[in-house]
Amino acid sequence: MSTVLLTGGCQCGAVRYALDQQPFNVHVCHCRMCQKAVGGPFAVICPVMKTAFRVTRGTISYFHSSDVARRGFCAACGTPLLFEYPEGQDLGVLVGTLDEPDRAPPENQYGNESRVAWYGNLLSVPGDRPTYADNPEMLHRISSTSHQHPDHDTATWPPK
Ligand SMILES: [Zn+2]
Ligand SMILES: [Zn+2]
Repeated sequence: MSTVLLTGGCQCGAVRYALDQQPFNVHVCHCRMCQKAVGGPFAVICPVMKTAFRVTRGTISYFHSSDVARRGFCAACGTPLLFEYPEGQDLGVLVGTLDEPDRAPPENQYGNESRVAWYGNLLSVPGDRPTYADNPEMLHRISSTSHQHPDHDTATWPPK
């Protein structure tokens, strides 16, 4: 029997997954392919054995970023979900898609040849307020009309 340790999914909720294993060697990857694939300055990749990864809702779509690697995403909302060598024993889910991203902190960094120059200064960049702290009306408009799937599994999809 499997034991679900972590769950996650895309922004719209069409794709949900479960991990039966704590990710190992969680790492930041600064490589140019990861930057493009996640639309950000770096990816945070959380490897698990493929036998410990289960899609629990929907279907993952793939872009082959090379002949030896592919990147999974949700075709309905575009959220990048994972990185995988099809020939490998493990795959790496992207930390932001976990329902609890804090539960897979990075232990290593790769791809430093492409690391953005401002990475080391990030913590000294000003800005420590919550989202729309200065505009509660806008925050309410966003939260009351959000189409983002909640950070837990749901009984039905799409939401009614
Ligand atoms: Zn989606
Ligand atoms: Zn990379």
